[in-house]
Amino acid sequence: MLSVEGVSFNYGPHPALREVSLRVEPGEIVCLLGANGAGKTTLMNVISGLARPQQGKVLLAGRELSGLKPSRVVEAGVAQVPEGRQLFAPLSVRENLELGAFSRRSRGERQEVARDMERALAMFPVLAQRLGQPAGTLSGGEQQMLAMARALMARPKVLLMDEPTLGLAPLVTREIFDVIRRLPASGASVLLVEQNALGALSVAQRGYIITSGQIRFSGTSREILGDVLLREAFLGPEKVTAAGEVRR
Ligand code: ATP
Repeated sequence: MLSVEGVSFNYGPHPALREVSLRVEPGEIVCLLGANGAGKTTLMNVISGLARPQQGKVLLAGRELSGLKPSRVVEAGVAQVPEGRQLFAPLSVRENLELGAFSRRSRGERQEVARDMERALAMFPVLAQRLGQPAGTLSGGEQQMLAMARALMARPKVLLMDEPTLGLAPLVTREIFDVIRRLPASGASVLLVEQNALGALSVAQRGYIITSGQIRFSGTSREILGDVLLREAFLGPEKVTAAGEVRR
């Protein structure tokens, strides 16, 4: 489905990504783990068309996305839930959702968009109670749900999520991970960037570990959880049992 092949990206003379390759198959949740500054957000921005790689390419179902404008990448089927949510704070929940389907409304798909809105609200019932409320007045967890619902309004084949649980309370974090787990059933594969490695590995089937702009390891979530060195480097040894079960 989504395939990143040998992507390198430099900020001026500073390399941020070095020959990065990864794949997300249909119906999969894949996580990308790494410390601050490892290059995760840069990779998301390369995939979504916000940053143009100096080398390598990004393909969706075999079609090359690299070089397309971000709006065209969304139309092709890749939507991003950016770090920090980036909602339009003064606009209502409804208006924010409508903006998520902007390119489709303009192509005369109004009825379908209305149906998608209903579907999004069924997935995030809390938003249905707040349709007229300015997005800026929602709680952090509700804002994250709105950002996810807005991205789903574009009917993505792949959803890119950058730190969706950042700054949220543990209970809300769990709710967000529960929703992420259900996304493939609604037709979207997920590439999930997370600092919360244990949470991410509990919903993802596979993961990649990136340090200093290079993918150092990839494997199933169970393999990552079961690898002593990776566990100690990225997850903290005491929180995972030898069987790979996450203790909370
Ligand atoms: P974080 O979790 O802190 O967001 P990250 O893994 O997403 O980190 P990136 O934001 O992609 O990492 O940054 C990768 C590298 O590129 C870092 O060394 C960072 O300092 C550098 N970098 C990021 N943005 C810029 C920029 N606009 N100009 C120059 N260097 C940048």
